[in-house]
Amino acid sequence: MDKLFDFSGRRVVVTGASRGIGRSIAEAFGERGADVAVHYCSSADAAAEVVDGITASGGRAFAVQADMLTADGAAKLADAVKNHWDGLDILVNNAGDVIGRSTLAEADDRHIEQTLGLNLNSVVDLTRRLIPLLEKGQAPAIVNITSITAFNGGQGGVSVYGAAKGGILGLTRSLAGELCPTIRVNAVAPGVIITDIHRRTTTPERMVQIAEKTPLGRNGDPDECAGAVLLLAGAGGSFITGDVIHVNGGLWIG
Ligand code: NAP
Repeated sequence: MDKLFDFSGRRVVVTGASRGIGRSIAEAFGERGADVAVHYCSSADAAAEVVDGITASGGRAFAVQADMLTADGAAKLADAVKNHWDGLDILVNNAGDVIGRSTLAEADDRHIEQTLGLNLNSVVDLTRRLIPLLEKGQAPAIVNITSITAFNGGQGGVSVYGAAKGGILGLTRSLAGELCPTIRVNAVAPGVIITDIHRRTTTPERMVQIAEKTPLGRNGDPDECAGAVLLLAGAGGSFITGDVIHVNGGLWIG
């Protein structure tokens, strides 16, 4: 296996690994020999499928349930990881959701609490709890999933989500400095990727419009985000920290 993408025996936590982008990331690590903690919230069967798939492809995996919208969600996941491993090599903070589209003026307390709680606060909480374990890892790295929304404002009704994803960028840069030279911290900013988020919150007509506006002429696939995460997490990204890779088919420049 190409050593830049060889994750044999590397211990990896992927949050929100039951579906969409997180699932693709977990499977990509598993196919390259990693030992993967497959975090999920409500999709237990899907998480079990991911674990089975990784095991079948020669990797090792276990599933961990934690609702990041509960006060002890991050602690529950961090404790499960600490009970399983005595060190951690890679943390991918992927779990997230638009929650729903609302202008800021119309947003109620619940929308704001849940959007910031899942997309920003839980990432801060989980990361701080896992830093001591990452410090015991080998060439440890954190990859945070932010969004094109933090750069271009998104597709409407996502101000709070944009605030959270912008916060993830700030966290990435500040933490990269704080954890140098021991732990590298980077981010991946997907553009419009076909997952349940858009099936729920973006009309098919709007998806077509976005695809037409995208220089590569289409929306993205979850698997197309995994390569950037592998690069930043492994030997290929060994001199990259505090940075972000955009995965958006050129929508950023379009
Ligand atoms: P998705 O298909 O809806 O998957 C979301 C994942 O997050 C699922 O595994 C889900 O777990 C988990 N999750 C949801 N609510 C949770 C909660 N309360 N506690 C813990 N986990 C929870 O979404 P996706 O499109 O792959 O998004 C993945 C990441 O990419 C998110 O951070 C999103 O903001 C970001 N992103 C996506 C796009 C895009 O176009 N799709 C663009 C930019 C950024 P269960 O299914 O087990 O509940």
